[in-house]
Amino acid sequence: MKYAALRGEIIAACLSMNRRGLNQGVTGNISARVSEGFLITPSGMEYDEMKPSDIVLMHLDGTHEGKRRPSSEWRFHRDIMAKKTEVGAVAHMHSMFCATLSCLRMDIPAAHYMIVVGGGNSIRCAPYATYGTQELADKALKALEGRNACLLANHGMIVTGPTLKKAMWLAVEVENLAAQYWRALQVGKPNILSEKEVAAVIEQFRNYGQVKPGDLPRCC
Ligand code: 13P
Ligand code: ZN
Repeated sequence: MKYAALRGEIIAACLSMNRRGLNQGVTGNISARVSEGFLITPSGMEYDEMKPSDIVLMHLDGTHEGKRRPSSEWRFHRDIMAKKTEVGAVAHMHSMFCATLSCLRMDIPAAHYMIVVGGGNSIRCAPYATYGTQELADKALKALEGRNACLLANHGMIVTGPTLKKAMWLAVEVENLAAQYWRALQVGKPNILSEKEVAAVIEQFRNYGQVKPGDLPRCC
């Protein structure tokens, strides 16, 4: 079977997002770019019953191959893959704190310096649209302008990354940012970093971790 290893990685990522408490049931979906388009999780299938052959191969024109129906959210996966050519993987989940803030239709502001992992000084919440619709895909794409992550009103979140591993890493970070912000709101009015302070964090990240000259900043 073509892309057997990547299909296995997608299933492992689904299982790990539920194990880590980032998602519950089957209410998430994951895609990864391949030369024909992208691989995506099938709609409404239990992750622990999913086999590599259940992962659906989709083309950017919205057609698919294989015996399973693709995730009902294939439109935003497709549009992200089509419009953001640097993206190699997309993950969507209903993680508790992102979903909570999304029910309040709140952006995540720069309350914690790690906000920069999302690509800027906030993680936007896309306005509400019914799940699985082109309207939702359009709104998500707008919220993702210049960003690697967004919330979806009354729904959940989306993260993107150059690789599946990086997208799943970002999912943990974004859920953590949402949890910190929500908790801070319970006690008072969080202090929000200025644009200058956020720019300094992005600069500082250029030299974070085991970087070599010419590497991209670790945050982005
Ligand atoms: P699928 O099971 O079709 O991927 O849908 C789950 C979901 O999260 C819809 O928003
Ligand atoms: Zn969803």
